[in-house]
Amino acid sequence: MAHLRGLTTRLCGNCGKMATHKTLYVKTESAGRSKWLRIFWVCLSCNAPNHVVVPRYMLETKPLSPPPAELVEDVTLALECGPLDFDELMQNLRIGRKGICHTFNSDVRMALQYLTANRIVTEHKDDLTDRTITEVSAKSRKANHLKLCPDERSRGVETRGVVSLYAQRHTGMNTRPGTRIVKRWFAHVGLYCIQCGYLSIKLSDFY
Ligand SMILES: [Zn+2]
Ligand SMILES: [Zn+2]
Repeated sequence: MAHLRGLTTRLCGNCGKMATHKTLYVKTESAGRSKWLRIFWVCLSCNAPNHVVVPRYMLETKPLSPPPAELVEDVTLALECGPLDFDELMQNLRIGRKGICHTFNSDVRMALQYLTANRIVTEHKDDLTDRTITEVSAKSRKANHLKLCPDERSRGVETRGVVSLYAQRHTGMNTRPGTRIVKRWFAHVGLYCIQCGYLSIKLSDFY
């Protein structure tokens, strides 16, 4: 997969092209804090939503002792409570390694490479889209956050299953010569019904 400043080319399951994409997010609230969950990646060639599939890491055996590096030990400790994807693992390490200035992605990837090569950790494909839909439907139903579905309403059925979709946008501004400020935010781009799969998106600004 080619990464170029956040732009990734991926094989679209709908049109079969290697296309640029945009990741769509939904927002959930827990304990007064907003959480942004990835729900789809949309192919910018045919506009079809694709499932976000990420590797998830699972601890298989007791780690080597003594561990070859502190970070290797911290990764196995984090995975002891259950399998994690890369983002969850990073989050876990950042909280757990407070005294350490910075935990670099590349170092964690190397630790994982070491652990998988030694079969201490195995890698599994995880459908993040399915997980997000389950989480959102459980949370939203409780909080009554779902909106009426326009597609089902047009057929005379009134069900609430619609969530808002967002995409990340950014602008770069040159404030003074040599100083560039990049602002990032989530822009509302459409609606998705977790009941019937109705999808309405407008991504024309991103092309
Ligand atoms: Zn496509
Ligand atoms: Zn619907």
